[in-house]
Amino acid sequence: MNKVIIIRYAEIWLKGKNRGYFERMFETNLKAALKGIDHKFVKQCGRYLIEEFAEYETEEIVERLKKVFGVHTLSLAYETDADMNSIFETAKLVCKEEGTFKVESHRGDKRYPKTSVEISRELGGMLLGAFYKLKVDVHNPDFIVRVDIRENGKALVFGEFIEGANGMPVGMAGKGLLLLSGGIDSPVAGYMMAKRGMRVDCLHFHSYPYTNEQAKEKVVELANILSQYTCGTNLYTVSVTHIQESIHEHCKAELMITLLRRFMYRIAERLALRKSAQCLITGESLGQVASQTIEGVTSSNSVVEKLPVLRPLIGFDKNEIIDRSVKMGAYETSILPFEDCCTVFLPDFPAIKPKLSDILAEESKLDVEGLIKEAFESLEKIEI
Ligand code: ATP
Ligand code: MG
Repeated sequence: MNKVIIIRYAEIWLKGKNRGYFERMFETNLKAALKGIDHKFVKQCGRYLIEEFAEYETEEIVERLKKVFGVHTLSLAYETDADMNSIFETAKLVCKEEGTFKVESHRGDKRYPKTSVEISRELGGMLLGAFYKLKVDVHNPDFIVRVDIRENGKALVFGEFIEGANGMPVGMAGKGLLLLSGGIDSPVAGYMMAKRGMRVDCLHFHSYPYTNEQAKEKVVELANILSQYTCGTNLYTVSVTHIQESIHEHCKAELMITLLRRFMYRIAERLALRKSAQCLITGESLGQVASQTIEGVTSSNSVVEKLPVLRPLIGFDKNEIIDRSVKMGAYETSILPFEDCCTVFLPDFPAIKPKLSDILAEESKLDVEGLIKEAFESLEKIEI
């Protein structure tokens, strides 16, 4: 018998014209996730098996597969010959010695001489004979022994389902450019779009030398964490120091954030178009901070001309966002106390409901095109 890992995807994808496309993307992503680990990748009808891996790497493989979108469930299983004796010997490895249990069987191979009910009953009896402290409880068992008779003359025997990340394979839904700050929200926003099958590249704005090297390392780390779910990412950085200085010098202090956001969105759209991204993604959530009122969102949205701006967190409470951040493993990094953009220029009382006429009047004091051009001169790409 062999130890294997079963990978299942959601049933919905078994039907319809998208299936081939789905499977190709999914397979590519699964293989990429297991890069560097010796194993054999086997495709079966509606599922995949990971075989011939080293025992000590089991946990690592499972951890990596749990981050691949499209994975519905995983199981650690044994593959054995499909005769009842082999199944019984294998089931003893999965079965506990005491408690209540039941056997659930499934026949992928309908030519198998026993029905699934017969397999369950027979195997249940054999296990009861082997472990005298066991009892059957078909309604509320402590654990379940599962048998799956496959088409290739083999049976898979396993106990549990491990919940996968669900969602759709990354690559099925185009590419977006995520505005990645050093905060809690934007990494979660990227995660959520990747879950719907979108490739995600990242753009980070910094105010070097007002912000330091640690702030940059923090963002690189966040991009690294995100990239485990997005099947890789590109991180671009652009300096907005000169823009903040120019706004500080020429414009009303309370509009600093509003005006800066408009520059960020303009630069982001231009970079997205250059890199063939089809939308911008931000971590905004309505009303969370002064710049995220509907007036603030309208103000930054109105400078984006060609692409949609997706805000997957717009209706989320902070608690919900934090839960997701913890779950994806980004929270501890996000709360490190290094600022992404310069706080020296931040006003004590930012405008909460900025009027577009005020914004345009203040902005007209700036050389918008010149400042954007200068920003692009600082564009860097960081390998993740
Ligand atoms: P986050 O937790 O993502 O930092 P936030 O609650 O701090 O969000 P804001 O500072 O208003 O909210 O930022 C709103 C969104 O604008 C962020 O989620 C992010 O998408 C984008 N953004 C803000 N600052 C930066 C930055 N320095 N670089 C790139 N994007 C940024
Ligand atoms: Mg922030």
